[in-house]
Amino acid sequence: MSAPSEEPSVRRALYPGSFDFLTNGHMDIVRRSASLFDELIVAVAHNSAKEGFFTPDERVEILKQSTANLSNVIIHKLPGLTVEYAMKTKSRFIIRGLRAVSDFEFELQIANMNHRLNSKVETIFLAADPENIFLSSRVVKDVWRNGGDITRFVPEPCLKALESKHKDLAN
Ligand code: ADP
Repeated sequence: MSAPSEEPSVRRALYPGSFDFLTNGHMDIVRRSASLFDELIVAVAHNSAKEGFFTPDERVEILKQSTANLSNVIIHKLPGLTVEYAMKTKSRFIIRGLRAVSDFEFELQIANMNHRLNSKVETIFLAADPENIFLSSRVVKDVWRNGGDITRFVPEPCLKALESKHKDLAN
């Protein structure tokens, strides 16, 4: 796991999420955030309320491969509270993507709570590209589980990881 650089002038942002599966919607937010900040840490959360398909380590690996061409993006596992990890890694910004009104209420609650916990960390919302507005990990997972073609919805390393995990599970 690479350590973030120490210069105080570096504008660093943290993009936390489950990323299970990683979709092209996530990738769009990663690319756009990477162009807005000096450094972007994508942090893989282990959410006990959501059943994971890939382990956090597998998600880290998929993200690493999918962002290999983005030199200012690093991938971490999120060890606990997002806002604490933001402080620890000297990230002043938390990035979240907004697709629809349905995302808004939950995201606003989390952003407000994070602001109460630490007002030095700002949450920035990026609007989903209209092309990806219908993409969610859960829906893509459902399509895949039912044999649908998800090639257009996820990056190549996610497809490859799915193929090999599927083979392992079948054996
Ligand atoms: P979490 O469990 O933290 O919601 P997700 O992996 O589902 O993790 O989502 C991480 C972030 O990415 C959230 O801010 C979510 O709104 C955003 N996101 C998910 N899918 C898309 C998409 N298709 N376009 C833009 N943002 C998205």
